[in-house]
Amino acid sequence: AQAMGGNRFRFYAPEMNERAMQLFTLESDLARAIEQGELCLHYQPRVNLESGAVRSAEALVRWRHPQRGMVPPGDFIALAENSGLIVPLGAWVIREVCRQQRAWIDAGLQTAVVAVNLSPRQFQDEHLVDEIRRALSDHGLDAACIEMEITESTVMDNAAEAGCKLNALKSLGISLSLDDFGTGHSSLSRLRHLPIDHLKIDQAFVRHLCSNAADAAICKAIVDLAHNLQLSVIAEGVEDAAQAAALRSWGCDDVQGFHFARPMPPEEFARMLAPEGQL
Ligand code: C2E
Ligand code: CA
Ligand code: CA
Ligand code: CA
Repeated sequence: AQAMGGNRFRFYAPEMNERAMQLFTLESDLARAIEQGELCLHYQPRVNLESGAVRSAEALVRWRHPQRGMVPPGDFIALAENSGLIVPLGAWVIREVCRQQRAWIDAGLQTAVVAVNLSPRQFQDEHLVDEIRRALSDHGLDAACIEMEITESTVMDNAAEAGCKLNALKSLGISLSLDDFGTGHSSLSRLRHLPIDHLKIDQAFVRHLCSNAADAAICKAIVDLAHNLQLSVIAEGVEDAAQAAALRSWGCDDVQGFHFARPMPPEEFARMLAPEGQL
C-alpha cells in the first residue's frame, strides 16, 4: 500500500484489492438490501419422528441480489455479524416471521412454531427482548408461536450474561433451542440450569451416522442427555431414510433435513399446514 496523503491508501496487491472491494460492495449492497426488500425467508419443516406431523419449521434468510442472484446466508451472515448489520437484519427477520405467522392465522391455517436464528451479536443486543415483545404484540401473536435458536457456542462463550439473557427471552413465553449442539463446549452443570426447551444435534454428527460408530454414539448420547434433562431433541441435516431410522430407534423427537424437505418459500410451506381443526 502506498500513502496518498492524509490517511488514504491505494492498494496494489490485485487479489487483495479485488477481495476487499467485493466484500465492501457486498456490505454496502446488504445495507440497501434490507431497505429495498431484497431479503426473504425460506422455511424448512421439522418432522416429528413418531407422528410424522410437521409442528414447526426453521426460518432461513435468503438474499435475492439484483445482479448476483440468490446469495446463501453462508455468504453474508458473517459479514453482517462483523459490520453490525446483523442487528437490523435480524430485527427484520423477527418482524417478517411475525407478519407471516399473522397472515397464516388469518388465512385459517394451523400454525406451526417458527424458529428464528439469533447470531452472537443479536443475542448480546440490549434491545432484543423488547424488539421481540413488540413484534409479537404488533401482530397480536401468542409468544408460543415463536422459537429462538441460539448456538451452543454463543451461549457458552459469555457464560454469566447468557443465563440472564436466556431467562429474559424465556420470560416472553417463547421457546428456546440450543443450535449446533455438540460443536461447542457445554458444561453439563450449566446446561441443566439454562431455560432451554430443545437441543439441536449438529449436522456434522448426523452426516456419517450410519458409517461412523463414534458419530452414532454421540447422537445417541445427545438424545439421552436431552431426555434426562427433560428437553426434546431435533436432529438436523438428515439426508436419508437410514439416518432417520437410526435416530428414531434412539428416541430422537424431531428431524430436519433434505430427506424430508428442503427450506422452501412460504407459499410452499403453507401447503403443508393443515386448515385449522384438521390435522
Ligand atoms: P443453521 O442454523 O445450522 O441452519 C441449517 C443449515 O443447514 C441451513 O443452511 C439449511 O438449509 C441446511 N440444511 C438443512 N437440511 C440439510 C441437509 O439435509 N443437508 C445439508 N447438507 N444441509 C441442510 P442455510 O439456509 O444455508 O443457512 C446457513 C446458516 O446461516 C444457518 O445455519 C445459520 O447459522 C445462518 N442463518 C440462516 N438464516 C439466518 C438468520 O435469519 N439469522 C441468522 N443470524 N443466521 C441465519
Ligand atoms: Ca439454526
Ligand atoms: Ca444448526
Ligand atoms: Ca450450522
